[in-house]
Amino acid sequence: MKKGFAHIIGFFILCSFLLTSCSGPLQNRPSVVTEDQWVSADIFSLKGTCSEKGYYYLENDYFLCFFDESTKKKTVLCAKAGCKHQDDSCYAYTIALPSFIFFSNGKLYTIEVSDEGCKLIQRDEDGSNREEKLRLMNDIAIENSSITIVDYKVCKNCLYYQGNVLMETMDGELSQKVSLRRVNLDTFQEEEIYSPDKNGCSIVSVQPNKMIFHEFDAPEQTENEYDPEVYNSEEFLTKNTMKIQIWEEKDHSIRTLLETNRWETLGAICAEEDFLYILNWDEGHQKNGVQSLNLNTMEMREVMEPKKAIDNFYKLGNYVMFYIDQRWTSYSIPDFKETNCTIFSDGYQIEQGTQNGYIVTKVLEKVSEGGFDRITKQGYYYISREDMEKGEPNYTEFYVRSYD
Ligand SMILES: [Zn+2]
Repeated sequence: MKKGFAHIIGFFILCSFLLTSCSGPLQNRPSVVTEDQWVSADIFSLKGTCSEKGYYYLENDYFLCFFDESTKKKTVLCAKAGCKHQDDSCYAYTIALPSFIFFSNGKLYTIEVSDEGCKLIQRDEDGSNREEKLRLMNDIAIENSSITIVDYKVCKNCLYYQGNVLMETMDGELSQKVSLRRVNLDTFQEEEIYSPDKNGCSIVSVQPNKMIFHEFDAPEQTENEYDPEVYNSEEFLTKNTMKIQIWEEKDHSIRTLLETNRWETLGAICAEEDFLYILNWDEGHQKNGVQSLNLNTMEMREVMEPKKAIDNFYKLGNYVMFYIDQRWTSYSIPDFKETNCTIFSDGYQIEQGTQNGYIVTKVLEKVSEGGFDRITKQGYYYISREDMEKGEPNYTEFYVRSYD
């Protein structure tokens, strides 16, 4: 039972975080997204983002840097003469922590949250011409409210995001509004697509005119139900519904593609062209296969038979990573065939796919504290796709991050 509980929690943490954590272009993925492709573009939280030329990321939480894939050199995105890039006078400085970074149509964007609100900042690809374009959710932000951007994805000229506004009501209670929104990155017009009342959401895939997202109950728990034995029970979890929803611009409708519960979960992995790929998950790992749903005909088909216990997953470009038997294994989309990933054997983890290679990380130092390992030093490296496929460990180190 304990083990199952950990799995469920782990899965849901990943549902809410890793479902949002997809990457930039990988093998076979064109850098310019065509009309009919669904995009699970970009990054989670402090991760970086890719353009056709390289990888943008933050150093020391605040300073925008760029790793150039062709020269294998890194630069701080600051052209200020004599700048040491150490304080907020630096042109590369970003305010927010965490800051969100994405690249679209030749421009670099950051979402920076401060006391002044939630700013969408645009820069040229070399970091110059920094300009505030929009304050996100400014229409519902009131004094003493706090805004968080939880999740976002970008497709062509559209930014989709989920924002939460936490505010104090007249009688001193805290209330939260969840809002799914879209911003047009040509006109900087913002619109609310959906506000799911009390439920939680996570965005799965977006197109300029469609969005697929998970919506799950945030159930009222009695005190008794905080007991793990109860919380983990079939009875409790089957009461918690979970839906895969689709929003379409043509009639501004939201329709439920599939409905399940947290005992027998259907985790949407991604949508590619007209297919949605879904992981069947269950406590006993008897049905951990992958199915595809044809969004035109609503026909379901098995694309990976259930034979292995999948504890977690995330999507990376044209691959999905499954956590099976204590290690990440990659499967290609849409055929869900296991692919070669020798890169993981010596502790490297893929952070992001670039145009011609990968950004990978490796834990260099950790300390044990109260039974948990805490990372204190982590290296960031680049490896070309060619070297990875040949099994040549030609890593270029460009950043070592130290945590206090
Ligand atoms: Zn500087």
